[in-house]
Amino acid sequence: MRRPPAVTPLLTGVSRYDKSLSTRGRGAGTFIDAPIIAWLIETADGRILYDVGCDFAKIADPAACARHYGGNPFGAPAMHAGQTVPAHLRRFGLGPRDVDLVFIGHGHFDHAGGLADFPHAEIHIHADELAAARHGGEAYFPGECELPLRWRTAGGDYQVCPGVQALCTPGHTAGHMSLLVEIGSTAVVIAGDAADLQENIDDEVAPGLCWCDRTDLAIASIRRLKAEARSARAQLLPNHDMRRYREIAGS
Ligand SMILES: [Zn+2]
Repeated sequence: MRRPPAVTPLLTGVSRYDKSLSTRGRGAGTFIDAPIIAWLIETADGRILYDVGCDFAKIADPAACARHYGGNPFGAPAMHAGQTVPAHLRRFGLGPRDVDLVFIGHGHFDHAGGLADFPHAEIHIHADELAAARHGGEAYFPGECELPLRWRTAGGDYQVCPGVQALCTPGHTAGHMSLLVEIGSTAVVIAGDAADLQENIDDEVAPGLCWCDRTDLAIASIRRLKAEARSARAQLLPNHDMRRYREIAGS
């Protein structure tokens, strides 16, 4: 069984939606296919997941799907049983118990939906994000961030473990966080939804959905990520960009 590399993008589904959801004020009327990625990170101190994708049960069960996605103009993401995070882990001979820590960049349904699969892991999330997710609102599914898990909240930047640094990148949501990963020869910044597309990074365009319409915060976070990536000589990885996903995954 091959051992995962330091950082592996796991494709957990694909959303088809209007591009303006990713690039605020740009691309209305153009549809894009956006990968939904969970990132598997191998460290000397344990195994981390950044995000866990959608809750497959809410897509596979027609009644649950209608309940959760019926009001979404773009419907449910495309996701099959082989794309759940546990199914991806099985390909490496691993199971959910082999994951020590789940880092939730933000609580939207396509990032925190799979949490129920990780009752044994420590769940990291920004305190503001946990509060926002529990309060509810657009793209948060009730209950997903209220599971009786081992929650650990933070209020600022911190070292998750040697080689993995959590970076506050609010704007898309109240308490969004990204990760700088420096392990061996691997140096990457996982932007999360602070930057959906390479275009968000290159042109410093805010995501379509901004907390309290704070595009200023979102753009400041993109600039911060670019600066962090520059100083660490790290690759900055957008989260919902199919072309970039394919390059990174080598597919
Ligand atoms: Zn989001």
